[in-house]
Amino acid sequence: MQKMWIDGRWTGSVSKKTFPIDNPATEEIIDEVPRANAKDADLAVESAAQAFREWRGVPGIERAALMHEFATRLRAKGKAVARQLTLEGGKPLIENLDEVEWCAACFDYYGELSRDQGGKVPSPVFRHQVNFVRKEPYGVVVAIVPWNYPLLLLTWKLAPALAAGNAVVIKPSNETPLSTLMLAEDLAIFGKGVVNILTGFGTEVGDPLVVHPDVALVAFTGSIATGKAIAAAAAPHLKKLNLELGGNDPFIVCDDVDLDVAARGAVWAAFLNMGQVCTSGERFYIFESVFDEFVRKFVAHAKKLRLGNPLGPDIDCGPLIREAHRRQIEAKIEEAVSQGARVLCGGRRPPLLKKGYFFEPTVLVGVTQKMSIMRSETFGPIAPLVPVKGIEEAVRCADDSEYGLGANIYTNNLEHAMYAMENIHAGTFWINDPLTDNDAAPFGGMRKSGIGRELGIEGLDAFREPKHVHLDYKIEAKSYWYPYRWSTVKKDEAR
Ligand code: NAD
Repeated sequence: MQKMWIDGRWTGSVSKKTFPIDNPATEEIIDEVPRANAKDADLAVESAAQAFREWRGVPGIERAALMHEFATRLRAKGKAVARQLTLEGGKPLIENLDEVEWCAACFDYYGELSRDQGGKVPSPVFRHQVNFVRKEPYGVVVAIVPWNYPLLLLTWKLAPALAAGNAVVIKPSNETPLSTLMLAEDLAIFGKGVVNILTGFGTEVGDPLVVHPDVALVAFTGSIATGKAIAAAAAPHLKKLNLELGGNDPFIVCDDVDLDVAARGAVWAAFLNMGQVCTSGERFYIFESVFDEFVRKFVAHAKKLRLGNPLGPDIDCGPLIREAHRRQIEAKIEEAVSQGARVLCGGRRPPLLKKGYFFEPTVLVGVTQKMSIMRSETFGPIAPLVPVKGIEEAVRCADDSEYGLGANIYTNNLEHAMYAMENIHAGTFWINDPLTDNDAAPFGGMRKSGIGRELGIEGLDAFREPKHVHLDYKIEAKSYWYPYRWSTVKKDEAR
């Protein structure tokens, strides 16, 4: 049985309760972890609050050295960590090896960025004065993480939060806490209590963390429903929130591109990690002049995807995260079909994979913009393909959504690309290359897809608050103080 990490040591939960973690590819229980509650949350926050007093004063160059050291340790144990990610989360090993490297690179990036960017020096308003803006850490930050990219989405919070000088309490998803726990002893290099890890369920330990009086900021990635619950719980305490929520990304294919490349890109965007990516392509709008040919190519590539145990070689897709999620996806397909959609491939559990929460990549046509498959996030391996007359209709449909996380277009036509970019709400807009992120550019959602941004300088500023310092190095009474003398006060003279 695993323990969790509070105040620099391994510990069970106060209640002594545990819960099992299963492997979604085999349905076997692979470990057990403590089931934390509000009492454990108190202990972790107390430890972090204590550690913050020391950590906030560590100079940037020392912090950066520690962040590079952590990145080196992460790379050194990368294969073992990637294997653990695969066992608990079901993504193919090759994708998890990438995930570990992205995390290490992100620690390197924020180590250096925070050395370079401590604030700013604006021009003063009057003579012999100095103004500077310090970017200060908030204090204790809570990082609540989902299961689809357990370490990457943690890193997008943890690396900038630490670089900014905060102490952190991590609440990994109850589905995938093991890979995070594997890093606990490496995270100890930042100091006792600077990083704590609590395992458990959202309502039992996530909620107590959100409302804890000594927690200054909650950084959350997850569904819109949970984001709303966290915002409601945080509101009476006026907590600072950074929310990365769900998406329902549109994907436009114009008639001027190599359709085979566009189809392969679209299949990858739709089925990467079984569609369990917040920026998965979820709605595909194809110019009608190339619709039939695109559909043929898309289906051909989708049918070639190799499903199986994600630890194995030559596997493209693993299982879904859990049985309940598989049933939700089946229900969504059934509903769409009952309303007139047609399944061109997939739509079922693979007959040869009896164990594990596998589901075949599914292509739908005959869908309409009103169906729930088009309006709400599926977070699964379903690609609805829809013909559109041209760029105006494509953009109108793409932007007809309450989400605004990402959007894609394939085109060589600059006017089409720029028109779509300007008129679709999206935190990230990809042209001819879906789903590529950049540590140095902000990531996040417009509309209901989120509040705030991760990555880039924006992602560092999410974990710091500015303090404006005004200093006058010549002590003298100002002409504009009391008593007012309208006839003689000339403020400009003091400038
Ligand atoms: P989820 O909202 O169910 O859970 C996310 C985390 O919140 C988990 O750690 C969970 O235990 C915790 N939680 C649940 N209820 C809570 C509560 N009341 N208080 C505090 N914490 C609580 O999401 P999920 O199923 O783990 O992940 C899938 C969702 O995440 C999808 O909607 C997906 O789009 C979204 N997501 C968004 C991004 C992004 O960057 N915008 C990235 C990945 C995933």
